[in-house]
Amino acid sequence: MVEFILDDILRKNVKKLIPYSSARSEFEGDAQIFLDANENSLGSTLNNNFHRYPDPLQKQLKQKLSSIKNVSAENIFVGNGSDEAIDLLIRAFCNPGVDNILIFPPTYGMYEVSAEINDVAINKVLLTKDYQLDIDAIKDGIDGHTKIIFVCSPNNPTGNLLKTESIEWLLKNFNGIVVVDEAYIDFAGIQSWLIRLSEFPNLVVLQTLSKAWGLAGLRIGFAYASKEIIHVFNKIKPPYNISEATQQLALQALQNEQQAKEKINILIQQKKRLLKGFKQYDFIKTFYPSDANFILVKVDEAKKLYQYLVSRNIVVRNRSSQPLCGNSLRITVGTPEENDALLTALNNYKG
Ligand SMILES: *Cc1c(COP(=O)(O)O)cnc(C)c1O
Repeated sequence: MVEFILDDILRKNVKKLIPYSSARSEFEGDAQIFLDANENSLGSTLNNNFHRYPDPLQKQLKQKLSSIKNVSAENIFVGNGSDEAIDLLIRAFCNPGVDNILIFPPTYGMYEVSAEINDVAINKVLLTKDYQLDIDAIKDGIDGHTKIIFVCSPNNPTGNLLKTESIEWLLKNFNGIVVVDEAYIDFAGIQSWLIRLSEFPNLVVLQTLSKAWGLAGLRIGFAYASKEIIHVFNKIKPPYNISEATQQLALQALQNEQQAKEKINILIQQKKRLLKGFKQYDFIKTFYPSDANFILVKVDEAKKLYQYLVSRNIVVRNRSSQPLCGNSLRITVGTPEENDALLTALNNYKG
């Protein structure tokens, strides 16, 4: 295993940066009267604490998450969606016009978009035909300027988990950051990579409240990593990146883990039902085993089926333009009633 030294891959400007220091983080202790942040002392038209700036470090939320995930609060970063974490990672480690990231298409689109926004090059190594990592090809995809590898497992849009041994190979042999994006892990029924954080100083695990927790509108995502990497996130993030309203609502949602689990179970059952239903149709050629809350199906004519479903008021995602996804639609598992409608529509489709 190569020795991983964070300071060696951190951008120099980030290393020497003195972060913005907010009023609320400079004062430590108890006080009654806060005249330090130019807030409106009379409050707002809303009846709550929104006239105050929110906790820049989201301590209550992290504490709750820490007990649910069994990860220490100092190993947690809370972002405005996990998309914020993706962007901050690229900005922290990749020098624009010099460094690159490595991704494995077909995969989640934001890695590439975030890199492009930051003028960071993108190395791509396609997944194999069965949507797994191609380690031999990956060896050639890594060069002296590769700083971050993004691995998505379960992968979007293919829905499958990537093999543990392959991810392990990356973590052990790549002397840079390995991000394992676990946006769909709660549907997969396996252990998260979180339990191996202390083993790999270069591991960053991404999770989100957008999928299994049903809170895509709230914009909350998490990065879990060594406390040194979390320190880097905290240095460069916008000081108040999570609003007070969002912090309160996320905390409230996390109190009810049982209810979230029940919803996950219903969606997993519904996924099984859809898979069984899909088998009946000749125009559905292949569907891939899914460890997520969506199914990628390969069909005769993706565009035609897509348009047909739209005419039945059902929108799915056409992923046909993605490599290895010719004529493929990505279908999110709906409510039981929505899935009824989908299956009825498919029954009436004249492929
Ligand atoms: C949906 C999704 C996310 C979630 O992003 P948020 O910004 O947290 O909503 C992250 N990664 C993947 C692979 C996704 O599909």
